[in-house]
Amino acid sequence: MKQRLAVLGSTGSIGANTLDVVARHPERFEVFALSAGSRVEPMLQQCLRFRPAFAVMAGEEAGRALAARLESSGLPTRVLWGAAALDTVAAHESVDTVMAAIVGAAGLSSCIAAARAGKKLLLANKEALVVGGELFLQAVRQGGARLLPIDSEHSAIFQSLPEDPSTWEARVEKIILTASGGPFRTRAPESLRAVTPEQACAHPNWVMGRKISVDSATMMNKALEVIEARYLFGLAPQRLQVVIHPQSVIHSMVQYRDTSVVAQLGTPDMRVPIAYGLAWPERVESGAQALDFGALADMSFESLDSRGHRERFPGLQLAWDALAAAPGTTAVLNAANEVAVAAFLERRIRFDQIHSVNLATLTAVLPTKPHSLQDLLELDARARRAAEQAIGRLPA
Ligand code: NAD
Ligand code: MG
Repeated sequence: MKQRLAVLGSTGSIGANTLDVVARHPERFEVFALSAGSRVEPMLQQCLRFRPAFAVMAGEEAGRALAARLESSGLPTRVLWGAAALDTVAAHESVDTVMAAIVGAAGLSSCIAAARAGKKLLLANKEALVVGGELFLQAVRQGGARLLPIDSEHSAIFQSLPEDPSTWEARVEKIILTASGGPFRTRAPESLRAVTPEQACAHPNWVMGRKISVDSATMMNKALEVIEARYLFGLAPQRLQVVIHPQSVIHSMVQYRDTSVVAQLGTPDMRVPIAYGLAWPERVESGAQALDFGALADMSFESLDSRGHRERFPGLQLAWDALAAAPGTTAVLNAANEVAVAAFLERRIRFDQIHSVNLATLTAVLPTKPHSLQDLLELDARARRAAEQAIGRLPA
């Protein structure tokens, strides 16, 4: 039986890499549904190539435009639009596996729908877990879903952990997430005020969507990943450590009680964790280049407490702060950061002000414990309003 996939966010960087791996194994995988935000043309091309039963666009205008283009194609693809349609395809009985590759909290509802429906859920959309937290995990448990990480660090950690999760607490001392340090690792902290969106989006090792590229430049990406690791692996936040490793060869590591460290290595290519998730527990060809140890000039490491990194990347600490605060605080942090990054990309705020907005929002919004998806969406909306207000109050 072929694995039938719903690829949510198929026109993005992770989505395109997923379809690249899928196309290498037509005997294993079949695309049942694709989804995208507003870009009709790339979605049309994907539909022509993968012939899905459903294509979902975020809005009506894009949906109708896609439907019009598909009409003359003779394809069996049905076009839907809106957030509820995403939930429908994510939970569809014909779907085995959902690739969650939408960016931001916009992907939360479809992740929960897939979890409740007991799907194999490949999670690239880290923001969904940062927002959803315990409620997300509850949905996974109740639905009997299988949650597999696609983020390269978390895939590395998952590959370095023992198979049986009930042994992790006793055997594992800590999880060490590696971070490249992004494009500004060696820049003078006070010079970061002048950074442009183009500079922030030019990552040295990875080609990614704009939001995660900015997050990598502020290291808020690593903050979100610490929170993601907390929920995925269940270790106390103090046992999650970050080390800077500029070459992105070691994708993360697990240190055991006896001090032994197990790591996963590879070239920086997202098709590796994607192929791992798709084929798990088997292994299939990913299209990535293998590491050439002869050509590997250097592997270096920097502590966060060295070289001014704490001052350069003040947002990273917010991960542990938010995890220690009231339930729902990680959702507030995520919403603030999404608003701040969007404002930076629109040149409404400076690069260094992303952190100011995040801090101000965390101070302004005191969450009450969320008990439902509805509670989470309301908290997310409240935090977004507070973040916009914080932007309005920034000194010109
Ligand atoms: P991207 O911006 O390239 O793609 C995002 C996709 O989501 C696109 O298909 C877009 O159309 C869709 N989308 C955006 N807003 C939407 C909305 N409101 N409703 C429905 N669809 C919407 O982003 P990306 O780099 O592919 O990242 C996707 C997710 O994967 C993010 O959560 C990111 O943190 C995570 N991730 C990415 C990488 C990477 O290498 N790109 C690595 C690890 C994790
Ligand atoms: Mg990552």
